[in-house]
Amino acid sequence: QTDAPFTLPDLPYAADALAPAISAETMELHHGKHHKAYVDKLNELVQGTEWENASLEDIVRGTYQDGAVAQNGIFNNASQHWNHTQLWEMMAPRSPAMPSELEAAIKDSFGSVDDFKKKFSEAGVGQFGSGWAWLVKTADGKLEITKTENGVNPLCKDQTALLGCDVWEHSYYIDFRNARPKYLENFLANLVNWENVAARM
Ligand code: FE
Repeated sequence: QTDAPFTLPDLPYAADALAPAISAETMELHHGKHHKAYVDKLNELVQGTEWENASLEDIVRGTYQDGAVAQNGIFNNASQHWNHTQLWEMMAPRSPAMPSELEAAIKDSFGSVDDFKKKFSEAGVGQFGSGWAWLVKTADGKLEITKTENGVNPLCKDQTALLGCDVWEHSYYIDFRNARPKYLENFLANLVNWENVAARM
């Protein structure tokens, strides 16, 4: 057993702490199986490569291939490890209220909080197949809503991730079956740690 460079972070709350908005069963599978698999696979793939001692962010940025039809294995597992680590922090039990500076920035960029939620949901619903919906801050300081396929994330586009929602089926199929729009509505209404989102600005 060699020293693995990456480890699965603990959830910042108990697996059942987000229930009933997300079940403990979903959290246990999503964190303990899916996220763990990305970490294990990443550790296996970087062994003996130039990425063995690199930071996770450097691996994500350095292995992303802009315009490629499919990304490589190191990128896919590194980006999904990063994405899920952010996601756990971006959620919290009893979704804390949106800090005023974030609310002001969202109103400024999208008209209203409701309009922001509508557009964010549309991005998540509109992502064909697996991927993520994001609220990002661009390099020139603007807030934008984006969607990405598979593990691609804002780091690849020189953006700061403020909020991300995993729209891979493994994140919602147990609790919502195929109803991705309901999952997104529930995510925005009950799960977002708006204090964490504001701190990322
Ligand atoms: Fe996931």
